[in-house]
Amino acid sequence: MARYAYVNGRYVDHREASVHIEDRGYQLADGVYEVVGVRDGRLIDEGPHIDRLDRSLRELRIGWPVTRAALAFIMRELMRRNRLRDGLIYMQVTRGVARRDHAFPTVPVKPALVLTTKNSKRADADPGPGIAVKSQPDIRWERCDIKTVALLPNVLAKQAARESGAYEAWLIDADGCVTEGASTNAWIVTQDGELVTRQTDNGILAGITRHTLKSLCNALQLKFVERPFSLAEAKKAKEAFITSATSFVMPVVKIDGEAVGDGKVGLTARRLREEYVRFAAAGEAVT
Ligand code: PMP
Repeated sequence: MARYAYVNGRYVDHREASVHIEDRGYQLADGVYEVVGVRDGRLIDEGPHIDRLDRSLRELRIGWPVTRAALAFIMRELMRRNRLRDGLIYMQVTRGVARRDHAFPTVPVKPALVLTTKNSKRADADPGPGIAVKSQPDIRWERCDIKTVALLPNVLAKQAARESGAYEAWLIDADGCVTEGASTNAWIVTQDGELVTRQTDNGILAGITRHTLKSLCNALQLKFVERPFSLAEAKKAKEAFITSATSFVMPVVKIDGEAVGDGKVGLTARRLREEYVRFAAAGEAVT
């Protein structure tokens, strides 16, 4: 089956899909993106993801390439054409094509829009054995709240993690605190059973999964607090886990080679993953 990509108004064969070499996303990483998870033909948290896209665009003064209604239609059309049941939709908006100059183009330029999809196996409510993370210095800029395609520090951190046999990197700030993962938010469960994740400010991306989980914690009457936590505190925690649109809730069983708790998937992370999967299955079906 041919796989389609959406590129600036057209659905094209994914293998042939391309953008102009003067696209400012390609030249200068002058663009933003979003990833929406799809489960059983349902978009997970579509509204909040598109709201965050809107915020990223506004922060960088990039216009909307199409209306919000048109984007919702394109997402569904691409899902339908690619028979996407489980996986993700990737969308990217750049400032557009212009003669290369760091400053914004002085002539009107249409923002460029690309969407692709990725099929994957339906995520299990059971997390399996959990994952290992490796700490890496957080060398990113001071606007990590914007979901830009400028991801080089994240790429290098993730690669360092993978080369050490870990799945994710945990980024450590100048105070020795964990900001977030290279592409996920970071959480711990303290020995008192309190869930801790860093507060949202310019230092991290306000994850949509993080936000949904916060609501689930409230509904389950779990103790939850947003504050910085150090790498040392994380290593002594009862449990740890990551959240993202693609990982859902994934238990962390090892940090820098040291076992978290008893080194097994914890009860809280297991329960929260089950709750999240239930939440994801409750949306309106598209395909
Ligand atoms: N932090 C970073 C740096 C990310 O790239 C992501 C994934 N987009 C997240 C956190 C998790 O965000 P979400 O739950 O919206 O996928």
